[in-house]
Amino acid sequence: MKIFVIGCGYVGLATGTCLAEVGNDVVCVDKDTDKIAKINNGEMPLYEPELQELLKKNVDAGRLRFSTEIINTDNVDIVICAVGTPTKENGEADLTDVFDVVKSVGQKLNRNSVFIMKSTVPVGTTIECKKKLNCQIISNPEFLRQGSAIKDTMTPDRIVVGTEDEKVKKIIEALYAPFISEGRPIVFMDIVSAELSKYAANAFLSTKISFINEIADFCEVSGANIKHVAKAIGLDSRIGQNFLNAGIGYGGGCLGKDNKALISQAKKIGKNLDIITAVESRNEKQKNIVLEKLIKHFGDLNGHTICILGLSFKPKTDDLRDAPSNKIVKNLLQSGAMVKVYDPVSADKFIEFHGTKNISKASGMYEAGKDADAVIITTEWDEFKDMDFNKMKSLMKGSLLIDGRNICDPALAKKAGLKYIGIGVS
Ligand code: NAD
Repeated sequence: MKIFVIGCGYVGLATGTCLAEVGNDVVCVDKDTDKIAKINNGEMPLYEPELQELLKKNVDAGRLRFSTEIINTDNVDIVICAVGTPTKENGEADLTDVFDVVKSVGQKLNRNSVFIMKSTVPVGTTIECKKKLNCQIISNPEFLRQGSAIKDTMTPDRIVVGTEDEKVKKIIEALYAPFISEGRPIVFMDIVSAELSKYAANAFLSTKISFINEIADFCEVSGANIKHVAKAIGLDSRIGQNFLNAGIGYGGGCLGKDNKALISQAKKIGKNLDIITAVESRNEKQKNIVLEKLIKHFGDLNGHTICILGLSFKPKTDDLRDAPSNKIVKNLLQSGAMVKVYDPVSADKFIEFHGTKNISKASGMYEAGKDADAVIITTEWDEFKDMDFNKMKSLMKGSLLIDGRNICDPALAKKAGLKYIGIGVS
């Protein structure tokens, strides 16, 4: 099929590349000229495992191209909208980019083309966009995870499609046939239900995280261990083990943004989403617990050097959007601390955003920990799991290790002379 993917972010690049990989003729379009120039120069504008190799393979094979403009829409079968839908000041989803895309393709498409709304949009948006297009439009929310975007696109848990048009269903089935196998279904439904499914999925995932973080808090005052409690409840097949890791809160470009947008959509129709509102407020609190633990330990942070290991909101991505590290570093600077940061892929981007006043960047975890009063693990990168505690302790000025992702063995850390503080573990 001839496909245009509009928006070359985490979703657009993974989607476009995988659709080319299975034999389609794909053009990925982005309004960001620097981004397109970079890609056309063989560089990646973002970090996502496996993406660069697969993208190059498909460019070399002539199946994948990149452009700043949507040109020659003759005979185009599919247009996929994968632009961002960030949060406005008031919590609503900002749909400027989505409407720009709809306006720019508007009447250019032929009646047999299908416009796929992959961006996460509030209920009703897809139907509203339909009025401005002369072709079919469907809702097809994306569920890939950054860090495993290629794997998730090639083998999705499910593909959700909002359309009730039988002819369009056949086209979408053909488009996604290479990615579906037994047990990985395409689920067809009406457009509004498809739109809401995406928000509900993210709300549920964040609920699990805020729930376990609240129980972890209770563990700290009661002497229970959250790792045991999470295991005990996660083995119940109705609950499941995933997303029950206590930590310093969720971040990224989706969970918080989508929860805020959902709360705001509901408010507009006179509904209060009590659970999701509480989930968000728990998460905001959670981002402050590192500061609280440091103050409890040191009293005053003025003049202390604090090492931050991990800046991206989760491992295997360079994405800093809403990452807890932003709030933690801001808190530390306001408290008079000096900050040393290390992240395998996102340190430059972090410094670009936060500047260098009282922040320095290290090129490895031990260099970051050198002369630090405390080391904080904020992202669960694999290399931090293998930390040599003796080496870290010998380099540090102090001995405090705050394991914000509960990835270390407390006994081994303590054996090396570190004062270990996890989340909900003693
Ligand atoms: P992103 O911010 O990484 O990328 C969006 C891209 O769209 C940017 O490169 C931007 O320059 C481009 N763009 C904006 N307006 C444009 C226009 N008019 N024409 C061409 N390009 C334009 O966003 P993302 O993380 O890839 O997310 C895209 C959408 O998918 C969002 O709605 C998001 O909520 C949803 N989503 C994201 C993920 C994820 O893990 N990142 C997962 C599922 C769903």
